Amino acid sequence: MSKYFNTRYAGLKQYVPGEQPRGKQYVKLNTNESPFPPTENVVEAVRQAVSSAHLYCDPDCRLIREEAARVYQVDYDEVLCFNGSDEVLSFAFAAFGQDGVAFPVLSYGFYPIFAAVNMVQGFPVPMGENMAIVPEDYYGLNKAIVIANPNAPTGQYLTPEQIEGIVKNNQKHVVVVDEAYIDFGGQSALPLIKKYDNLLVTRTFSKSHSLAGARIGFGFGNPELMRDINTLRCSTNPYNVSAMGQAAGLAALKENVYYITCCKQVAKTRDQCAKALKTLGFQVMPSLTNFLFVSHPGVKGEMLYKGLRAKGVLVRWFNQQDVRDYVRISIGSPEEMAVLLSALQDILQEEYHAKRVD
Ligand SMILES: *Cc1c(COP(=O)(O)O)cnc(C)c1O
Repeated sequence: MSKYFNTRYAGLKQYVPGEQPRGKQYVKLNTNESPFPPTENVVEAVRQAVSSAHLYCDPDCRLIREEAARVYQVDYDEVLCFNGSDEVLSFAFAAFGQDGVAFPVLSYGFYPIFAAVNMVQGFPVPMGENMAIVPEDYYGLNKAIVIANPNAPTGQYLTPEQIEGIVKNNQKHVVVVDEAYIDFGGQSALPLIKKYDNLLVTRTFSKSHSLAGARIGFGFGNPELMRDINTLRCSTNPYNVSAMGQAAGLAALKENVYYITCCKQVAKTRDQCAKALKTLGFQVMPSLTNFLFVSHPGVKGEMLYKGLRAKGVLVRWFNQQDVRDYVRISIGSPEEMAVLLSALQDILQEEYHAKRVD
């Protein structure tokens, strides 16, 4: 830290993303990206957008919002577009967090950091049994609430009725539902934005629509909530989504049906992989996402992570209380999952032999 850095940021811990290796080829199952590349239409749309990149992009993201409104059956003024959903999440902490923001202890690692950087107080809510989010624990907290649904890294899914319970019981504060993984099998709470003016739903195209690198996220909510968020957006960077990003997102939305099919394919691979992992003795948390959160009674999480890495497979390990024994495995192609399973089999064998020698 230089002597010039504002002291208010002195204790700030930055978010550490999963590694994006350059050079060595890994089977990359650590950041929940899609195994499907963008379609040719998306690539072509970006190519065309580049040719006008000497001009500023549309600060209102009009075309992509119109299409999003159509696809998600909301009004145009109920949706905004962002440079990834991390951006709208951070704005939400700033905009609605004045009484503090509550979120599950085991959830997206960015939430406590969004709280810190936006100078609002974060209130981690303990998990229930089996690392569950217990909806009633979030009733009447008198603070804003952020819940990832399905949750990461646990994979747990709450029904729209359970989400509605939380929203209904916190009408003096905004409830943010982070639906980064909703397209992998859950049912969205999106229709509820028409009924509750304190519900903000966020989505991202990073996982479901093969656009992690393009940075496309959405916020949905009552027009007044959207105006508040938009005030922060326009006071920070009105050109927050690049022309290429907008073009990519629009083209992907136009092929929404195809991307949903990809998500279904990923879900199928996930369920097959979960079965295979259980056969190897893994405990597998139920998941409606594009990842599996797993542990093994015979091998520590760190060993799994390091062992896999040595065999060319990247997964995510969180050195954090209660989840140290787990690794989070993104769902890739069936071929990639076969490599993972075979590497795990080897690790278990090696571990078994090492123990026999002792
Ligand atoms: C990946 C992820 C996001 C953010 O994704 P962006 O790439 O910024 O759109 C938000 N929330 C959760 C829970 C995620 O896993």
